[in-house]
Amino acid sequence: MKRRTFFRSGLAGAAGITLLGNRAMAGNGKNYDGEIIYRTLGKTGLKLPVVSFGVMRSDNSALVKAAHEGGMKLFDTAHGYMNGRNEEMLGGFFSTVPRDSFVVATKVKPSGVDSRTGLPSKDTTAESFLSMFNLSLSRLKLDYVDILYMHSAESVEMVRHKEIVKTMLDLKKHGRVKFIGISTHKNEPLVINTMAEDGIWDVVLTSYNYRQTYLAEMNSAIEKAAAAGMGVVAMKTMAGGWLDKERTKPVNVQAALRWVISNPNVHTTIPGITAFDQLETDLRVMRDINLTEQEKAELVADASCTGLYCNACSNCVPGCPDNLPIPELMRAYMYAYGYRNAAMASELIAETAVKADPCAGCENCSASCIRGFDLKGKITDISRLVNVPYDLLA
Ligand code: SF4
Ligand code: SF4
Repeated sequence: MKRRTFFRSGLAGAAGITLLGNRAMAGNGKNYDGEIIYRTLGKTGLKLPVVSFGVMRSDNSALVKAAHEGGMKLFDTAHGYMNGRNEEMLGGFFSTVPRDSFVVATKVKPSGVDSRTGLPSKDTTAESFLSMFNLSLSRLKLDYVDILYMHSAESVEMVRHKEIVKTMLDLKKHGRVKFIGISTHKNEPLVINTMAEDGIWDVVLTSYNYRQTYLAEMNSAIEKAAAAGMGVVAMKTMAGGWLDKERTKPVNVQAALRWVISNPNVHTTIPGITAFDQLETDLRVMRDINLTEQEKAELVADASCTGLYCNACSNCVPGCPDNLPIPELMRAYMYAYGYRNAAMASELIAETAVKADPCAGCENCSASCIRGFDLKGKITDISRLVNVPYDLLA
C-alpha cells in the first residue's frame, strides 16, 4: 500500500469515524501530501519524525492510535502525568502494536527536590527513583523504555546527583532503558551545558519556543548539546497555546511549531495533543516545516504581547520577600488557563507546598516580571486551587 493511501485509510479507519469527525476527515488526505521529515536523535541513532506526541494531557487512546497510524513514532509521557493514568493509557495502546513500531519516553522526578532552589535533599534517593521507575514500567506494560529522563532538573547539583545518575546508568546497562536523559524547563541553558560537558547523557528534553527571552543562551546550549552528540527534543513549543486567560487570542501553533523545528539542532518536538484537530495540525507540520512570511510576521507581533507563557527566568524571585516559587505558580496559571487543565495546575501547586492566597499580607507587590505579568493578581487567582480537592479536578 502506498504511503499516502495507507495514511488516508489509517486515519479515517481504525481511529474511528465518529471520533475524527467530518472536518478532520475531510482535511486529512488533502493536506498531508508530502513525505514525513525525519531527523536523527543524536547518538541514539533513532530516526524520528520532527513532530512527536506529547501525551501529557491526553487520556484518549484513539488519539494515540491515530497519531501512530499517521506516522508519529515517539510518545512522551511521565511517571506523574494524570497520577499515572497517562502511562496506563499508553500501556494499553502499546500492547496492541509491535514493539518496534514506537519509541516511548518516560520521566521520573526524583523525590525531595526543593521546588524553589532545585536542590536535592536527604530524601532524594536512588531507592525512591527506582521504585517510581519500576511502577512506570509496569503501567506501560513494557520490559524496557527507550528513553528515561530525570524529570525537571534545574540545578547542576541534580544533573550531577551521584546516586540518581548511577541508578540511571545501571538501568541502561541492564537494558531496562535504552537511553538516558534529563528534562528541564528552568535554568535550561545551565542544565544543557552541564549535560553536554559530562558526556554521559543521550538526550535532553527542553523547553524551547519563540517567546523565550533568553534565546541566545538557549540556541548556544542546544548547539553545544547537538555537537556533543546528544539528541535534542523540544517541549513547550506552543508557548502556552493562548495569549490571554479568556482564550480569545490563540498562539498560531502551526507557526510556533515550525519556528522550533527551523533550528536544525532540534531533532524532534513533543507538542501536547489532546484533540483530533490538533493532531491534524501536527501531522501537517511533520511534512511541511517551512514558515511562511505571514507566520513569521505573526510570531514577531505575538512575541511582544504579555501572553500566558512564563520563561521561568526567575528574575522576579529576588523581589519577593516571601520567596514564593513564582515561576512554578505562573506555570500552573498557564496550565489552568492556557491548557484548561486545572488538575495539572493543582499537582504543580501541591509540589510547591504554597498556601492559598500567599500574597494576602503584601500591600504592594515588590516583585516584578520582565513580561509584565500582574504577579500578585495571578498568584491570588491560581492559589485558590489549594482549597479544591484534587478528585474534583482529575
Ligand atoms: S505580592 Fe506576592 S509575589 Fe508580590 S512580593 Fe508580595 S508575596 Fe511576593
Ligand atoms: S514570572 Fe516573569 S520574571 Fe518571573 S520567571 Fe516568569 S517570566 Fe520570568
